[in-house]
Amino acid sequence: MKIHAIGGYNEVGKNMTALEIGKDVIIFDAGLYLPPIVELEEREKLDIYNERTLRDMKAIPDDLVLDRKGLTKNVRAILISHAHLDHVGAVPYLEHRYNAEIAGTPFTMEVLRELRKEGMKIRNKLRYVHPNSQYIVKGGQEYPAEFINITHSTLQTALIAVKTDEGYVVYANDFKLDNNPVIGKKPNYDAMRKLAQKGVKVLIIESLYAASSGKTPSERIARNLLEDVLLSTANENSLIIITTFSSHIARLKSIVEFGKKLNRKIIFLGRSLNKYVGAAIRVNLCSFHKDMSMFVYRNQINSILKKINKNKKDYLIVCTGHQGEPGSVLDRIAKRETPLVLSNKDNIIFSSKVIPAEVNIANRTLLEKRLKRNGVRIFDEVHVSGHSSREDLRDFIDMLQPEHIIPAHGDMKKLSSLIDLATEMGYKYGKNCHMLQNGEHVIL
Ligand SMILES: [Zn+2]
Repeated sequence: MKIHAIGGYNEVGKNMTALEIGKDVIIFDAGLYLPPIVELEEREKLDIYNERTLRDMKAIPDDLVLDRKGLTKNVRAILISHAHLDHVGAVPYLEHRYNAEIAGTPFTMEVLRELRKEGMKIRNKLRYVHPNSQYIVKGGQEYPAEFINITHSTLQTALIAVKTDEGYVVYANDFKLDNNPVIGKKPNYDAMRKLAQKGVKVLIIESLYAASSGKTPSERIARNLLEDVLLSTANENSLIIITTFSSHIARLKSIVEFGKKLNRKIIFLGRSLNKYVGAAIRVNLCSFHKDMSMFVYRNQINSILKKINKNKKDYLIVCTGHQGEPGSVLDRIAKRETPLVLSNKDNIIFSSKVIPAEVNIANRTLLEKRLKRNGVRIFDEVHVSGHSSREDLRDFIDMLQPEHIIPAHGDMKKLSSLIDLATEMGYKYGKNCHMLQNGEHVIL
């Protein structure tokens, strides 16, 4: 078999990998890359782009490499690991090049349908695969692909394991090992151990935090951090604004629950929140939608903010803008472009972390400067990550016992950290752990 690195091997984003066996090709993920932004929630701005402009910007994987290798016609399926746009966001721009079904968990497929709603056509059939069940890829032979439940910062994230005659090909991009998730079940360790028993030929694994020592804390910890700030620290008699990743439904659930305890009206503002919460509602994974009100369009947002401004202590606002994205709701509030006037004692909570890319750091610095000019209190990094740290990755590799390891989802520095870890665990660089760049492949 051959593993082709298509995107996400020179950067964090635009993930895409292809597995070639005989005359069959199976694609894993097709994500977007808008430099700096990892989770890419503020997608509305992308509507003006098409495949060509995105290719020129290098914002989608360069899958033309499959044309050059004569493999495009052999693609039998596009398997999507989860709903983050750096994994699924390029599908509407690229899928028309393939005659292949697109399979993912129900929440992921609903988010993809949301993208289609915004005017993009998806020609291939979407297949809804429930967590811990399988989808059969049909090619020269059948390849059962298991979508194994694993934890991450969005719903129904899957570890994808494709069965081949030579053993399983496992795609683990992105995940963390959270034994106390706020929504859903903990990782399906039984299924992983079974894969190891049957034999894992190769593991393609995220390397984002391979250099961060220790274990990534559970989402339960983020919930405790939020509780601490919301229930015992935030000023009672003023406004509370929280901004977080729109796709992080578990985090939103915690926020709504604490907002209810505070007896506040909970107001969600912004298109991307509407998109992800809508997808969660449709797959019955949003328990809190009756406890909040959603405002999507600019005039609606302005009129509710006018109302909130008169009675700030009665409201908790959840909005977009945690990376300081220009045009996001929080950005507009900070620039005083809305009827809401911030004052000292108002609480702004960032349930997120600044993505360490130049543009994000610059945007966030500017946002904070503007917010501080209004005298508000700022609570930063009320957050835990959705990605595995080094010891999680070690445990995971130990559990799967793969014959080969290929790090993904990072630049050379991040990939190297994972190679280091594999080497510590007895793998040999170039022999059974391999570093690929976009456009390259390895024969196993
Ligand atoms: Zn992700």
